[in-house]
Order: sequence, then C-alpha cells, then structure tokens
Amino acid sequence: MLLGEHPSTRRQAAAVLFSFTTYLLYGLIFAIQVWLGVVAPAVGVAIVASGLVFNGLCYALVRSGIAREGLDPGLAHTQLTVGVLFMLAAYAASGPAASGVLIVMASHIVYAMFTLPPRVVWALVGGSLTGLALTMVGCGLLWPERFRTDTQLVAFLYAALVVPLIAMLSDRLTTLTQRLKTQHAALEQALAKVQELATRDELTRAHNRAHMQALLDNQHAQHRRMQAPMTVAMIDLDHFKRINDRHGHATGDEVLRRFATLARAELRSIDQLARWGGEEFLVLLPNTAADDGLRALDRLQRKLADGRLAGMPEGLVVTFSGGVAQVAGDEPVEAAVARADAAMYRAKHNGRGHSLCA
Ligand code: GH3
Ligand code: MG
Ligand code: MG
Repeated sequence: MLLGEHPSTRRQAAAVLFSFTTYLLYGLIFAIQVWLGVVAPAVGVAIVASGLVFNGLCYALVRSGIAREGLDPGLAHTQLTVGVLFMLAAYAASGPAASGVLIVMASHIVYAMFTLPPRVVWALVGGSLTGLALTMVGCGLLWPERFRTDTQLVAFLYAALVVPLIAMLSDRLTTLTQRLKTQHAALEQALAKVQELATRDELTRAHNRAHMQALLDNQHAQHRRMQAPMTVAMIDLDHFKRINDRHGHATGDEVLRRFATLARAELRSIDQLARWGGEEFLVLLPNTAADDGLRALDRLQRKLADGRLAGMPEGLVVTFSGGVAQVAGDEPVEAAVARADAAMYRAKHNGRGHSLCA
C-alpha cells in the first residue's frame, strides 16, 4: 500500500521513506537543540518542516510513478544533493553544536556510496566540502561569537580528511560489487551445466533414466488429475551387438547419437525421450492413447528405413523393436513401463523391426 505495485517503485519508495524517517529523527535532535536553547525555535521549525515537506514531495513523486519518467527516477540524486543543503542550513543554525552536523555529512556520503555511482559520490564530496567551507566562512563573518574561527578550521580539516576517505571506500565497494556480479554469473553458468549433466545422458543428450523417472511421476500425477490418457513406449535397437561387432564401438555410439536426434525430431515437442539403458530408449507421450503412440513408433521406424541416419557406413541397417503401453487408471507408472517392455520383447520374438501394444 505504502510502496505500490511496480517493483522499482517499491524499492525507490522504500528508500524515500527511509530518508523521511531519518529526517524525522534529525528533527527530534533539532527539537532537543531548541529545548537546550542552542537553536532558535523559529529556525528549527523552519528547517525541520521544510525537510519533511521536501521528503513528502519526493515520496509523492516516486509513489505516483511520475518520477519514473524523469532523469532521476528514484530521486536519489536529488535527495542526496538537497540533503547537503539541509545539512549546511543545520550547521549554520546549530552554532556551538555545529560540528555534530559533520557526522551527519559523513553518514550521508556513506549512504550515497551504496546508492550512486562513484563518479556522482565524488561530485557530492566536492560539493559538500565546498559548501561547508563557504558556510563556515559565512557563519564566521555573520556570527563570530557563535562560530569561532579556530574550532571551525579544525572541524573543516577533519571533514576534509574523512569525507574523501569514505568516497575512496565507494570506489573499492564498486570493484567488489563488480567482482561479485562476475562470480555470480559464472556460478549460474556452472549450475546450469551441472543441472544439464545431472538430467541428460552424455552421449545422446536425451534425458537420463533418473530424470525420466521424475518426469514420469510428475506427468502421471498431472494426467491422473486431468483424467487425460498418457502412454509410454519402450524402444530397443535391434541386433545392436552385431552393429558394434561389425562396424566398431565408435560407430555404435554414433548410431545411438543419431537415432536419439532423429527420434527427437520426429516425435512431438511435448514427447520426452530418455536413454533408459545401453541401446534402449523410453518415450513418454503426454495426452496420447496407446494406438496413437503405436502410430508414432511406426512413423519413426519408417523414417529409419528411409535411411534417415545419413552418413552411416554402407550396409548398416538400423531397426528397432518397440512396445507401447497406455498408463491405466490407477496403475503405477512403473507397471506401464514393465508392460511396454514386455510388449517390446514380444516384438523381438516376432521378428524385430516393428512395435506392439501391450
Ligand atoms: P536385440 O535385437 O535382441 O536387442 O539384440 P542386441 O544385440 O541389441 O541386444 P543385446 O542386449 O545383446 O546387446 C546390446 C548391445 O548394446 C551390447 C552393448 O555392448 C551395446 N551397447 C550398450 N551401450 C552401448 C553404448 O553406449 N555404445 C555402444 N557402442 N554400444 C553399446
Ligand atoms: Mg537391449
Ligand atoms: Mg537391442
């Protein structure tokens, strides 16, 4: 409610509200200064009230989204720059207690260093110190009894040393943040690679068995909820041992790779292909009844016969035997996989090169 819906508006509105709260707390200190007689009541009220009005205005501009269209969308630059002016006014109003305001100046730069780029932080440092010097000279000339030259000079020297030191930290912080971002990106890449390795079969890039198990469970639960048909198909390449023996293991590997690529291209994009064992693949066909699953395997068989494993040695014929099972009502998905496996073995015994329904 206070922050709004838009994510960047939420972040910026929270920052403005934080600033508003700090002005309230500084206002409290000012009230104490008035009570102690260090600050004239009218001056105190004027500074605190204008500070709160300024923050209220910033909040309204950010929260309404108007600021988002401008040059300084979160008003961070504006707030930090105007904040320096308020600090200088507070310095001039505080008289003998003025050096306390310099701590606020230092904390202001610390806040800027987390919000603004180093270039702007340095500009703010230059502006703050120049403004401070001018204010100090002005105060010394106007109210010499309230602002002694020697104490002002010492206070200025401390400010001139500490404020740039903080800005130097800002440079260091930016370097660290940059390094963290780079490391974060590298870690994300590594994580994606690990996820890929954990779910894919290295040789064929099909899902590995463990991941397919999870996909089966997940899809089965969904299909049961929607009462939609779901089919599994077991595929085993025929006489694969013979392919290895005649053409070598490397060619065998290439056949597996190319078969997986062909199957992925020929099946629908929602179908999932996994390498279930050596030369065995399992296909998960969502929203599919058994006879449509069987048709999908027959189509794949025809593509193989059409010589789609192009580039393979002369005389290398690849066929497969398949078994298809639609997962029945409350049957565990493993039972359907076992039925598909049994149907595939029946196809082997019936002469290979074709598929059967369970
Ligand atoms: P069938 O028609 O009865 O299925 O005969 P088959 O020769 O395909 O069956 P069998 O199970 O006897 O042999 C499978 C062969 O697959 C044996 C194994 O060496 C080979 N194989 C398993 N994994 C790989 C692999 O990653 N690369 C290669 N090149 N061969 C593999
Ligand atoms: Mg086998
Ligand atoms: Mg085989």
